[in-house]
Amino acid sequence: MNATHRLDFLIQDKNLDADLKRIAQKVFRSERVSFEEGVILFERGSLGYLGVLANYIRENKHGDITYFNRNFHIEPTNVCVYDCKFCAYSRLIKNRDQGWEMDVEGMMDIVRKYDHEPVTEVHITGGVVPKQDLAFYADFFKKCKAHRPNLHIKGLTPVEYYYIFKKAKLSHYEGLKYLQECGLDSMPGGGAEIFHPEVRERIAGDKCTAEQWLDIHEQAHKLGMRTNATMLYGHIEAFWHRIDHMERLRQLQDKTGGFQTFIPLKFRNQGHQMSDIPEVSVVEDLRNYAIARIYMDNFDHIKAYWAMISRDTAQLSLAFGVDDIDGTLDDTTKIYSMAGAEEQHPGMSTQQLVELIKNVGRHPVERDTLYQVVTDYNDVVFDAANKTNYYSLPVVE
Ligand code: SF4
Repeated sequence: MNATHRLDFLIQDKNLDADLKRIAQKVFRSERVSFEEGVILFERGSLGYLGVLANYIRENKHGDITYFNRNFHIEPTNVCVYDCKFCAYSRLIKNRDQGWEMDVEGMMDIVRKYDHEPVTEVHITGGVVPKQDLAFYADFFKKCKAHRPNLHIKGLTPVEYYYIFKKAKLSHYEGLKYLQECGLDSMPGGGAEIFHPEVRERIAGDKCTAEQWLDIHEQAHKLGMRTNATMLYGHIEAFWHRIDHMERLRQLQDKTGGFQTFIPLKFRNQGHQMSDIPEVSVVEDLRNYAIARIYMDNFDHIKAYWAMISRDTAQLSLAFGVDDIDGTLDDTTKIYSMAGAEEQHPGMSTQQLVELIKNVGRHPVERDTLYQVVTDYNDVVFDAANKTNYYSLPVVE
């Protein structure tokens, strides 16, 4: 039974709740799900039901293709002027001796370390400190491009840019235009957390607002940059806050079309001021991926960070709407491990990542930042000694 037959079979189910049946019919007809229907999906959609809908959309958009990319991370500092309550990674300025603050040469040393590696992207993000200002990043972007022109610079989030541009007395557009001229290619999706002020003010009240975050992405899109968007879920927010978050992104995407990928980020509860809040289950993770795939109809891609949710859950997510697995090659990011992620040393070879995708019947494709195909691994056979066994995913028949 393929994805279309499964959805058709589901719609014929006489015992299906009337609202859920209407939503399934809309998905079948490629119609947009409303805000109220998004909340109904969270409140009443079973894992099996959501998986059928999300997988139908995923396979219509991408078939079995599952993307990954080869990148490395630079985290210029973990010292931060802000104090997000869920952040296990940062150190306040007054405790800066417990953290790190790189200079441009230190960052270039990391770039040079990958000179002979087939990476296509450097992903740069971290804390916010006064001395890592506009001139600092302009200098780094220029040096990085001069050293390796084809390396795509995916750098900083609106949290850093809002602070940097305000200090430099530049508009969001002017600041981004200048940094684009220095070598910036695109923006990652971090710092979005939960947009609604009821939640944002309690967990990240002192950094940029939702409106500022969205405006910086809008200006980047105007400049022709592609960007991503995240959502930190599973803490104090209600289901409708998640839909509100996705709705704001969906509206901006209708306007600009500049987003590529939506990345739900699971709240992990170690080492910060919200550690008393329990984490949500794997079932909730999968439901959340599926609803993101159903709701974000104008986003091409839904991505899972395997290091954050474990390799097994990442495999499962490929049946719940995810078509992209973050492909960090080695331990170059500390953001997840410090918050209690499943993988404390998130290294995976290309072979392991390809096998992880193939073992659940999907088609692995290495992409660059802009989803152009670098290598199609479907027919590549690796050393048999390292092969893991195939197992099938649970599906609703
Ligand atoms: S989440 Fe980002 S902005 Fe907030 S404290 Fe941590 S490093 Fe700073």
